[in-house]
Amino acid sequence: MGTIVETEGLTFDDVLLIPGFSSVMPNQVEIRSRFSKKIELKIPIVSSPMDTVTEWEMAVRMAELGGIGIIHRAMTAEKQAEHISRVKRRASVRYMREKPTCFRPDVTVGEVFKFRTDHELSYSSFPITDDNNKLLGIVTSSNFANSNNKQTLGEIMKPRQELTVVNEGTSPREAYAILKRIDKKVVPVVNQNDQVVGIYASKDLNEALAERITNQSYLDAKGRYQVGGAIGTGEEALERAKTLVNAGVDVLVIDTAHGHSKPVFDTLLKLKKTFLADIVVGNISTSDAARDLIHRGADGLRVGMGPGSICTTRVVTGVGRAQITALLECSTISLKEDVPIIADGGIRYPGDITKAIGAGASSVMLGNLLARANEAPGESVPSSDGRQYKKYRGMGSKEAMKASREAAARYLQNNEPAEKMVPEGVPGKVLSEGPLENILFQLTGGLRAGMGYTGSPTISDLQKWRRFDRITHAGKIESSPHDIYME
Ligand code: 5GP
Repeated sequence: MGTIVETEGLTFDDVLLIPGFSSVMPNQVEIRSRFSKKIELKIPIVSSPMDTVTEWEMAVRMAELGGIGIIHRAMTAEKQAEHISRVKRRASVRYMREKPTCFRPDVTVGEVFKFRTDHELSYSSFPITDDNNKLLGIVTSSNFANSNNKQTLGEIMKPRQELTVVNEGTSPREAYAILKRIDKKVVPVVNQNDQVVGIYASKDLNEALAERITNQSYLDAKGRYQVGGAIGTGEEALERAKTLVNAGVDVLVIDTAHGHSKPVFDTLLKLKKTFLADIVVGNISTSDAARDLIHRGADGLRVGMGPGSICTTRVVTGVGRAQITALLECSTISLKEDVPIIADGGIRYPGDITKAIGAGASSVMLGNLLARANEAPGESVPSSDGRQYKKYRGMGSKEAMKASREAAARYLQNNEPAEKMVPEGVPGKVLSEGPLENILFQLTGGLRAGMGYTGSPTISDLQKWRRFDRITHAGKIESSPHDIYME
């Protein structure tokens, strides 16, 4: 006789979190969390690596609003790296000015003034260097004050031996303290050969350090937005990872339909040996998978097999796991090992986010709800019903797999001709809902209120709550508006 495992597969609509004594108001709760071991979030929401959800524009806005976007991989590695670079170039604050404009000592004051006007520069501090970029001195507005246009910079500069410099690798905070101590506007940053690699300016640091404290987003060490990139498995994934790391990616996501598999184990081990960036792995739905991947170094786990709104894996293959059960089971391991899990797929309402975190997740990954935002790359779909729609499709839909070999690889169908593909997803459209900010406001508002009802001051308190009632069909009807004609 076969075995039917005794667990019941429960999902969002089957359960309700039980309320608890509360001494926190929704506006007092703290919704900071983590995506992976090192990647912190100000809101526990992540945009999914799908070609109708996350490209650079979505990733920039997600980072600005305190979450993170994972750039999809249904494109070449170079193209994906370009999306990462675009996010990185959109730094909200500036710490060190890298490769600053330097002048040779024989350039005249008049020439510098002309250069400033031509390039609309608002600053007037420039390092003076030789042909090998070695530091010879610096000019600032005070040197220009008493100069005439014919003088050379060599004549008016403050020479190297009188300058305070900082070494490459000096942190913005250290540089800020030094600038305060020496009471100067700028300090050059030099490497071991005394070549100029950057400049710290107190004006930039004043803004940057103040903003870092009050800003909605976490920033990387250079003050740039955080962004993730999806990769697959095998040699191609290692190459792609290298390209993305060179472009500045903060976290790599091994993006497969079955994370508890040999190719994923092998890829994870190699990535952990080669890169410092966190590696998030998925997708999984069992505690065995969580344990095995954590022991191989996973820094975060994507949980969800078949809950996605565009997903047909369960009906096509007969395999999957209802999402609340999957989360409760995986989190028995992940909470003990302190590795964040991401609840990926099937989130339809703000309350589902509270339930996912109440079942142990550290963050949620959204496709459907974010594909509705203006910032999502899906095209607008014309419609005769007067409503506005945007395209949203499963990455395992025939349409997405035909469009990109990389998308087909997620479902191991990259070597199949189109007529032999067995899709595990569908293409479709979702209602267009305007700016991402409004969508996230509603989602985090529901979460905050849910934390108030369960008496959870922080995300980690909610993760440990884990107290659900199973509800009946009648309970479900009672949970939604009823006996009213809605306007
Ligand atoms: P949603 O937020 O739309 O409910 O779910 C999004 C999630 O569904 C994605 O993050 C990803 O894990 C999963 N997904 C995306 N495309 C497909 C697909 O074609 N098939 C399956 N099985 N899952 C998909």
